[in-house]
Amino acid sequence: MRYVSTRGKVPAVSFKDAVMMGLADDGGLLVPESVPAFTADELTKLSALDYPSLAYGIISRFATDIEPAKLKDIIEKSYAAFDTEEVIPVVRKGGLYIAEIFHGPTFAFKDIALQFLGNLFEHILEERGEKLNIVGATSGDTGSAAIYGVRGRKNIRIFILHPKGRVSPVQEMQMTSVTDENVFNLALDGTFDDCQDIVKEIFGDLKFKHDFSLGAVNSINWARVLAQIVYYFWCSFRAAENGRKPIFIVPTGNFGNIFAGYYAKLMGLPVEKFILATNENNILSRFINDGDYTAKEVVATYSPSMDIQIASNFERYLYFFYDKDASKVEELMKTLKTEKGIKFPAADIAKVQQEFGTYSAANEETEAVIASFYKSTGYIIDPHTACGVAAGLKLKTESPVICLSTAHPAKFPDVVMKAAGKAPEKPAGIIRLEGLPRKVADIPKDTETVKEFIRRNV
Ligand SMILES: *Cc1c(COP(=O)(O)O)cnc(C)c1O
Repeated sequence: MRYVSTRGKVPAVSFKDAVMMGLADDGGLLVPESVPAFTADELTKLSALDYPSLAYGIISRFATDIEPAKLKDIIEKSYAAFDTEEVIPVVRKGGLYIAEIFHGPTFAFKDIALQFLGNLFEHILEERGEKLNIVGATSGDTGSAAIYGVRGRKNIRIFILHPKGRVSPVQEMQMTSVTDENVFNLALDGTFDDCQDIVKEIFGDLKFKHDFSLGAVNSINWARVLAQIVYYFWCSFRAAENGRKPIFIVPTGNFGNIFAGYYAKLMGLPVEKFILATNENNILSRFINDGDYTAKEVVATYSPSMDIQIASNFERYLYFFYDKDASKVEELMKTLKTEKGIKFPAADIAKVQQEFGTYSAANEETEAVIASFYKSTGYIIDPHTACGVAAGLKLKTESPVICLSTAHPAKFPDVVMKAAGKAPEKPAGIIRLEGLPRKVADIPKDTETVKEFIRRNV
């Protein structure tokens, strides 16, 4: 399988090159040249497999330049790091299926992709005799999942900037209790935006980027989408009711999770509809409802990992929606850049609405849903999941409804406590970290100082 850019201006590359490249050189996102599809018979066979075997059955269609035994090994290692053998339990609560995609080492769904990506990076770097220095900014979930994805790995170092005192205590503990020598936590005296600006400036210095082999782990890496495709199959198989197609409800920020679902459908997975759940940062809900993809100010909510305006994976969806018309995508992205928004024609949106519904839950509703769901089912959900469950509880449908639960509630104990009047039970993987030594460097809000830190530690 070869990979092409959504903007069509770079030659096709291999899977391994696509993983190492991240963003394509023409500014587009890499996508597989063709969509591998499964027949009904093949789906039946896949439905009997355990999680790592299912993952292999799907991922092997895309990672065609990795030797099968090696790929199996990478996948098995990635999911052995989860705290349940099932990897993703699908439980039935309040008439809904809740897919707990948060059982990885940092208790948010990003582990599913970043465990795989960490192992993949290690393999490719070793084979090529190269080194990689990952630099990133985090508001919480991505940084910890990325750190756990690469801790202790050969030929990789990771530098994660977080705004000092502005990530949740659990998130901070998860990041800073990793003392492996290849992991560097930088607590920046500033906001998340300051962290992001500094990272952008560092990547903008092409000589520095090249001299120090810098790389990113952001959600546009195809390997991240790929790992997420797997659980749409897994969950569908577990919610099969008399052959009825399921509805998936997906708490959404960067459109990475839900895009993986959309792609699973392109591969032949029967899906009735996707419901894209947002918080007050509802640009994607406005797109689905009225074709209005215009950025507004980001507001802070109870579900911080969805506090995003421009969704980086949305471009991949547009590429497939417009039948792989790369020049159309390029034109739309140009409009987005110059006009800070795109208005889509009504006829296109009618087509979008055949596949996507949407729901936007504000803070009060998020809190109310955590409370009422706990009261009626005894089951505690986190604030991101609550945005999706809010949509699920309003649906009138005969189809099985699968809500993706993107984080363990113990990651966001304050909101849960406020809503349900009960602290979520802490998983062993969080309790274990309490009182461990911390490794973190305080750093001023200054790009040169951060660069100097990287220079000294690579
Ligand atoms: C990252 C994240 C999301 C949003 O996922 P996208 O792929 O960006 O749409 C939702 N919930 C949680 C808990 C997350 O960490």
